[in-house]
Amino acid sequence: MGVVERCDVPLRALNSLRLQAHAARLIELHDPADLPALLDRLREAAAPLVLGGGSNIVFTRDPPMPVVRIMVPGRRVLADDARGVLVEAGAGEGWDEFVRWTLAQGLAGLENLSLIPGTVGASPIQNIGAYGVEMRERFDSLDAVSLVDGRRRRFDADECRFGYRDSVFRHEDGRGWAIVAVRFRLARQMPLQLDYGEIREELRAQKVARPKAADVAKAVCAIRRRKLPDPAVTGNVGSFFRNPVVDATVAEALAKREPEMPRFPAPPRDADGSAGASPRGGRDERDGRAFKLSAGWLIERCGWKGYREGDVGVHERHALVLVNHGAASGAQIAALATRIADSVRDRFGIVLEPEPTIV
Ligand SMILES: Cc1cc2nc3c(=O)[nH]c(=O)nc-3n(C[C@H](O)[C@H](O)[C@H](O)COP(=O)(O)OP(=O)(O)OC[C@H]3O[C@@H](n4cnc5c(N)ncnc54)[C@H](O)[C@@H]3O)c2cc1C
Repeated sequence: MGVVERCDVPLRALNSLRLQAHAARLIELHDPADLPALLDRLREAAAPLVLGGGSNIVFTRDPPMPVVRIMVPGRRVLADDARGVLVEAGAGEGWDEFVRWTLAQGLAGLENLSLIPGTVGASPIQNIGAYGVEMRERFDSLDAVSLVDGRRRRFDADECRFGYRDSVFRHEDGRGWAIVAVRFRLARQMPLQLDYGEIREELRAQKVARPKAADVAKAVCAIRRRKLPDPAVTGNVGSFFRNPVVDATVAEALAKREPEMPRFPAPPRDADGSAGASPRGGRDERDGRAFKLSAGWLIERCGWKGYREGDVGVHERHALVLVNHGAASGAQIAALATRIADSVRDRFGIVLEPEPTIV
């Protein structure tokens, strides 16, 4: 199908917050081989905005640049050997469809990441994670095409610099790439991650005594359907803020004031080798310890859960999820996010950073 180009395209159906915005030019890319020629044609315009499924993006206005929607299809097994099973998917494949396909091949590894909206190509951008597993733990490599000069390059895990909801592609030196294919290393059998959230309880409720990967996927889907608002019904981008990572001194001082505040030791590897997700955060100067705090808890504590003003609000069961009840604009969503972050900073001295891309 190659490249399909349309003018003045409404983006409401192409973003999960259901925000009204228009793309002056929307280009659907099905074959990465067409990208260099397309970039030649776009040379006069501003660098394009890459769009996947639109489930982690906030349009506060009409994007002034051409929008390239990555729709590269395909999924296949590349190798099946002692090191596991290497699978590859085109960046335009739906993430959850891909997870279900791997399970149908009898492959374990991605089950905890079931039902996350969006595309395979966006999964490395913020190193998607859920229920105790991050994408980087199953990642092998990806192919990307430079939006500057059209050259294709392979990135391995180290080059992607994965961190908590982070990768090189979110930083200045890694911008300007369109991911076109991603490879994962899975296995016919691997230890299941059941210790996170309510997975064990859900499996018990489903009367599964000896779970397989597909059972875990089913349990995760059931929990997510109960807990998270469906973007088809209520516009949202999932978690609006990343959980802040702070050094031990900050966490301990806060815990004295707020004994009920949840805090978790931050994972050993992070964004750029440190845990510094917030300017007040980072690893403890003295002993290197860092803690992840719950952004949802901090926001709820500031009284935002269930807040609504017109069509913009905070979900009644999830303080971390900002919602569009109908006709909210991206600017209203962004303004509410700023008010929420300001109130958390004023009360706790913690800086919250948005998770989605703000256009
Ligand atoms: C209800 C709900 C639940 C969610 N739950 C989770 C969760 O549990 N865990 C989690 O990590 N996330 C979660 N998310 C966020 C979101 O699903 C993920 O971030 C997802 O990977 C975004 O994919 P997308 O294709 O929609 O990306 P988009 O929203 O289209 O794009 C997001 C960013 O990635 C860039 N991008 C997209 N595709 C490419 C590409 N091929 N090449 C280069 N750049 C690209 C865009 O330019 C943009 O900056 C949730 C969202 C919703 C709505």
